[in-house]
Amino acid sequence: MRDKRPLIFDLSHKELSNIFEEWGEPSYRVRQLWDGLYRNLWNNAEQFTVFPRPLRKKLGSYFAFESIFAEKESIADNKKTRKILFHTPLGNPIEAVLLQTLDRYTLCISSQSGCGMGCVFCATGQMGFIANLSSGQIIEQVLHFARLLNQDHKTLSNIVVMGMGEPFLNFENVIRALAQLNDPTGFNFGERRFTISTVGVVPVIRKFAALKRQINLAISLHAADDELRSELLPINRKYPLNTLLEACREYVHLTKRRLSFEWVMIKNVNDSVEQAYRLSKLLKGLLCHVNLIPLNPTEGYSGQAPAKQRIKEFKAILEQQNIPCTIRIPRGISIHAGCGQLAGFH
Ligand code: SAH
Ligand code: SF4
Repeated sequence: MRDKRPLIFDLSHKELSNIFEEWGEPSYRVRQLWDGLYRNLWNNAEQFTVFPRPLRKKLGSYFAFESIFAEKESIADNKKTRKILFHTPLGNPIEAVLLQTLDRYTLCISSQSGCGMGCVFCATGQMGFIANLSSGQIIEQVLHFARLLNQDHKTLSNIVVMGMGEPFLNFENVIRALAQLNDPTGFNFGERRFTISTVGVVPVIRKFAALKRQINLAISLHAADDELRSELLPINRKYPLNTLLEACREYVHLTKRRLSFEWVMIKNVNDSVEQAYRLSKLLKGLLCHVNLIPLNPTEGYSGQAPAKQRIKEFKAILEQQNIPCTIRIPRGISIHAGCGQLAGFH
């Protein structure tokens, strides 16, 4: 059942101020509300004991405080990887994954339920598009894990929008959510600690570049020629490599920020010496970094990750051409929490 009340996390500080003003509440009450939501991490009107009882009641009957419901938690990698499957009131699945590395916690969140981009090797793509998440639903994933960590006096280090969905096809809500989490008077999460990953929606890359935000950007490249890229990523037929790279150069030019490129390594598909040289040529002179991701298994794709040695050779070619490169270590594979494995049912 859909809750008719507005989700409180969907509303900006300004919008909440307007409502409180209409209710005849003084402005310090809005400050207390914002503090409660984004500093104390409250998610229930009853927790607002700083408010008189009637206001607490009004808050609880006017707003919903939850619109994604944690249904299942899966844990792997010696408890260092935790995945939560949420459902919306309409039953749409959303997944988010917390990755601990030493004392750092990176949270990978979803921007959509499912994805319509159809990348052949991706389980989210294989399930198809279900729905865009609202900005509040994106924020709720973050606050859910922030509360969990808070119990152990820990905090999130980084947030990556690399879960289910294509963030640049839900651009307004993603940017709104990150801006709201960035607010220094609230959750105060620095922009440089966010990363958005896109499959390459060129007009939106340009739009994002023009915003000149400090948020990091990652581009899923995966192939250095149009024929192969179009086979793997159908979006390449709409926005081929030359237009994509042009937008990337514009991004770096406008923001002066280093771009990341992601390259899923698939045995005998895009792991050749020739692809490594082509890639180096494409990226020549661009302020960037390449992440090599060994392919994670998904039900709908039969490809495999190359042997370790092959990945190292690919990396060596890039580095020889002065392109910084790292190999991403697979995480959470046993619980289907790895890159591209989120399908909302495991
Ligand atoms: N839609 C965005 C963000 C989500 S996907 C995008 O495509 O960039 C996050 C990353 O996981 C992308 O780089 C994607 O290409 C990669 N990925 C998808 N399927 C994968 C798989 N089976 N193994 C490893 N990485 C995968
Ligand atoms: Fe969607 Fe990204 Fe998966 Fe492609 S790789 S189907 S864009 S989530």
